[in-house]
Amino acid sequence: MDCLFCKIAAGEIPSTKVYEDDDVYAFLDINPHAPTHFLVIPKNHIDSAAEITSENSYVVAKIYEVIAKLAKELNLDDGYRVVTNIGEDGGQTVRHLHFHVLAGRLLAWPPG
Ligand code: AMP
Ligand code: ZN
Repeated sequence: MDCLFCKIAAGEIPSTKVYEDDDVYAFLDINPHAPTHFLVIPKNHIDSAAEITSENSYVVAKIYEVIAKLAKELNLDDGYRVVTNIGEDGGQTVRHLHFHVLAGRLLAWPPG
């Protein structure tokens, strides 16, 4: 499958790795929107959070465990935001499930 994030998870396209295990890969966003901005993805392809099922939902739990661990290690003590965009209106540009982790400045809410 011609998927950018599958290739990044497989190491076929370079990225700045933040974390990796058997199921999960995290790397810096190439176009950061906050002083800290990284993406956490399942290594196995899932189109978006709209495709989460009882078969694959374990990886979402793992991803949130990884995010909590990284947030502690990176001292994101003032808070942070986890976002997953879904489909065109949701602003999803890469069709491989990914969770943005943003921190280091006060983030506006609600989003535009
Ligand atoms: P979304 O718009 O939610 O689909 O987010 C896709 C994100 O992937 C954007 O924030 C992009 O900046 C980021 N991105 C696209 N290509 C790369 C890449 N090669 N390495 C790292 N991040 C990327
Ligand atoms: Zn993929």
